[in-house]
Amino acid sequence: MHTIPINALDRHIRPLTEELMRASAAVIASGYYVLGPNVKAFEKEFAEYCGVSDCVGVANGTEALELGLRSIGITQGNRVAVVANAAMYGTTAVLACGADPVFVDIDPAAHTMDPASLEAVLASGSIDATIVTHLYGRLADMDAIMALARKHGFAVFEDCAQAHGAHDAFGRRAGSFGKAAGFSFYPTKNLGAIGDGGAIVTNDPQVAGTLRKLRQYGWAAKYCNELPGGRNSRLDELQAAFLRIMLPQLDGWNARRREIANRYSREIRNERIRVPAISGAEYVGHLYVVQATDRAELQRHLAAADIGSDIHYPVGDHHQPFFGNRYVTTQLPVTEAACQSVLTLPCFPELSDDEATRVIQACNSF
Ligand SMILES: *Cc1c(COP(=O)(O)O)cnc(C)c1O
Repeated sequence: MHTIPINALDRHIRPLTEELMRASAAVIASGYYVLGPNVKAFEKEFAEYCGVSDCVGVANGTEALELGLRSIGITQGNRVAVVANAAMYGTTAVLACGADPVFVDIDPAAHTMDPASLEAVLASGSIDATIVTHLYGRLADMDAIMALARKHGFAVFEDCAQAHGAHDAFGRRAGSFGKAAGFSFYPTKNLGAIGDGGAIVTNDPQVAGTLRKLRQYGWAAKYCNELPGGRNSRLDELQAAFLRIMLPQLDGWNARRREIANRYSREIRNERIRVPAISGAEYVGHLYVVQATDRAELQRHLAAADIGSDIHYPVGDHHQPFFGNRYVTTQLPVTEAACQSVLTLPCFPELSDDEATRVIQACNSF
């Protein structure tokens, strides 16, 4: 039996090959390679898709977070609330701005920021902003978090690197709730380029203007360095041209991911495996994550059936070696339990029904 991988980018890209080749030939012939017409067009199309006024392309998702925080005014000494179960991406951006991360626990079912835990953090000191990560492709509880933001006067920045296209019952998409939002177009993301790419979306033209300076050395105009914290972080024309071909497919890919995920949640029946609830459009199936207290054993069982699995993510930010004992007294019980038990099963648009059946059978025979 063939191995079922956790991801299969070759299958994902193959049907698009000819169209991508034609687009790359056109870019090569055009003489525009950086911040040209394709970037401009993609920015417009992606802003429209997200339901916001502005999009600014950058080099990757990590810089989308850091420049995004800078663009909303986060600076030295500010306090920014983050979750600790999202692989350090948000925390790294906070540190890069010279600000201090304040860790918030997660909801035990959704694994996104727990508004009650955020409220508890606010009771012990004010914050300047929060990064809300729509982890695994699931919208966080934005109504509750935005209500806290209005009451306490802090900014909300969304990390949408796993949640392109997720939307609530009113059609509001990931990236349209907060002051601004970061996206990654790393190849394995729901909308992924053929290399690195990222973007920030916002409804605030002033924030967008600041970002257009920050991504080009802090320039207000050529060779006029106006802003601190600027650098070179640009989206290539080639990547923008590829993303423009893929964007119209995104909703279909997301629907297929969700179909596989919901089948897993319905058909995996094993008291040693906790599955997420059946989901609607608020979840775009970036990662399908179950919980098992005997995770290592489950992973071995799946491997014996030639099924790939992975752990997203094994170590909380507050326990990263990088911090030494800076956060030894920080208590995040739900986050810590999740780090010990989460396991990701194969879930990508090109996974076949037969492969999904094999994954379900292997889980049920554990
Ligand atoms: C992938 C990812 C990032 C970082 O994106 P890069 O393009 O790899 O820099 C940030 N946040 C989350 C939640 C991610 O999944």
